[in-house]
Amino acid sequence: EVRVRFAPSPTGFLHLGGLRTALYNFLFAKQQGGTFILRLEDTDQSRLIPGAAQNIQHMLEWAGIPPDESVCSGGQYGPYVQSQRLHMYSAAATSLLESGHAYHCFCTSQRLELLKRDALRSGQTPRYDNRCRQLKTNQVQEKLAAGVPHVIRFRLSSSSEPFEDMVFGWTRHEVAEVEGDPVIIKADGFPTYHLASVVDDTHMRVSHVLRGSEWLISTCKHLQLYRALDETPPTYAHLPLLLNRDGSKLSKRQGDIYIQHFKQQGLLPEALLDIITHCGSGFNSNRLGRRLDDLIEEFNVSKITTHSALLDLDKLPEFNRIHLQRRIEDEGFCCHLVDELKNHITQTYGSLIQDPIVLEPTYIQRVLHLRKGHITSLKELVSPMYSYLWLRPSVSWQQLEEMSSEVQDITALTIQVVQGCGNQYTAEFLTAQLKLIAKKLKKTKYSSVMKILRLALTGEQQGPSVSEVMISLGEQEVCFRLQRILK
Ligand code: GLU
Repeated sequence: EVRVRFAPSPTGFLHLGGLRTALYNFLFAKQQGGTFILRLEDTDQSRLIPGAAQNIQHMLEWAGIPPDESVCSGGQYGPYVQSQRLHMYSAAATSLLESGHAYHCFCTSQRLELLKRDALRSGQTPRYDNRCRQLKTNQVQEKLAAGVPHVIRFRLSSSSEPFEDMVFGWTRHEVAEVEGDPVIIKADGFPTYHLASVVDDTHMRVSHVLRGSEWLISTCKHLQLYRALDETPPTYAHLPLLLNRDGSKLSKRQGDIYIQHFKQQGLLPEALLDIITHCGSGFNSNRLGRRLDDLIEEFNVSKITTHSALLDLDKLPEFNRIHLQRRIEDEGFCCHLVDELKNHITQTYGSLIQDPIVLEPTYIQRVLHLRKGHITSLKELVSPMYSYLWLRPSVSWQQLEEMSSEVQDITALTIQVVQGCGNQYTAEFLTAQLKLIAKKLKKTKYSSVMKILRLALTGEQQGPSVSEVMISLGEQEVCFRLQRILK
C-alpha cells in the first residue's frame, strides 16, 4: 500500500516550495491509489508561528489537495502532530540507549561552542568530537542522578550504506565524518527532526518519502537509525530545488511566495499548481493548462530529474488566464465566478451603480463569456478600463464633436440599427451594419465611427471591439447611452 506524507514544520505559512512538495506527494498517492498524510513537525517549539498549522491545512484544501489523514481529517495512525507523540520518541531513544546505538551526552554548550570556534579558526567544518561516547556506565549514572543537563546522541557508524534514491540514483554520504554523532533527544526532552521523522514514518507506515533535496544527506543518517531500530526504511525520492527564474532562492522575504497571498489575489489554485509543475520535471508531457486530474494522470516519478525547477512568476497571469477561461466555460462553476465578480463590483463601485441590471447574473455572465480568454483575473474586470461595464461614463459632446462633425448622424443611425436588430443582435450583424453607416456618411471613415461609438459608450479610447461592447451592454443600455448624447 502506498502511503506518503507531507511533513512541514509549522514555523511559517505554506509557501510555493512547500506546496510543490505536498503536491508531488498528493499526485503520487492518488495515482497509486494510496494515502496522503499531513504531519506537523513541531518539535522545535521555539520557532513555532501562531496560525501556521491551520494555514498549512487550509491552503492545501484551497489548492484542492487535502490530506487523507491529518489533525483535521483524523486517521488511525495519529496523532498527526509531533508534540503529541513525545512518548514514542522517548521509547525509541530508550531502546537505542539499551542496544548501545545511542548515548547520553553531557557536553555543555560552552564546550560545543569552543569546538566550533576552533574548527572554524583552522578552516574546518565544525563537528562534534563524540567525546561522550567514551563515558563509562557509572559516570553516566552519576551525572544523571545529579541531574546534569544532557542530550541523547545517536552513534553513527563510520561507514554509511549507499541507498537508491528514485531521483538521484545511488547515493552515499559519509555523514559520520562530516558532522559527528547527531542529537536525537534535546535537553528539553523533545526529539530532533531526525529521530522524530524516522519514528513517525515507521509508525505511520509511510512507504515512500518525497521531500526536498536538501534532506538527501540526512537520509544517510535516517537509514542508520532504521537499521538500529530494526525497521524497514521507506523508498526515497528527493525533489530538486524550486528556484527563481534567475536561479536564486525563492525568497520568503518578499512575502509573495506565500500561498495565502495568491489566494488573496484571486488567483485560481489550478493556475498555481500548473505553473509550479510546468517549470519542473516529473510528467509525461509538459503542456500548459493542466488541471489536477491531468497532473495525476501525467505524473511520472521516473521522469523527475535532478535539475532545479526554475519558476517564472511573471508568467502566472498567463497561466491564470488559461484556467480562468476554462472555469468560465465550465457551466457548473461559472455561477461561483458570477458571485465572486458581483462581490468585486459592489466592493469597487457600490453606491455609484445607477443601473441595477449590472448586478444581475445574466448580465455578469454575459460579460464573463465575452471577456474570457482576454482577462487574467476577475478583478481585472473592475479596473478603470472596464468601469463602463458597471457605470455610465460621462462623455462631453464637445469631446465627440472634435472627432467628427457628423456625431449627430452617427449616433442617430446607430440607435436605428440597434432598435431594428430584433433577434439579430450579434457582433457580426452589428459590425456589418456599422460598416454600412460609415458608407452613408460623407465625412467620416469607418475607423472614426468606431472611435466615436467607443468613446460615447465607454468613455475610453481603447478596449474590446465596439461590437463586443455593444453586446456586453445590451440593446437597451446602448440606446440609452447614445440617446443621452443626442440631447
Ligand atoms: N519538517 C521537515 C521540513 O520542514 C520535513 C522534511 C521531511 O519531509 O522529512 O522540511
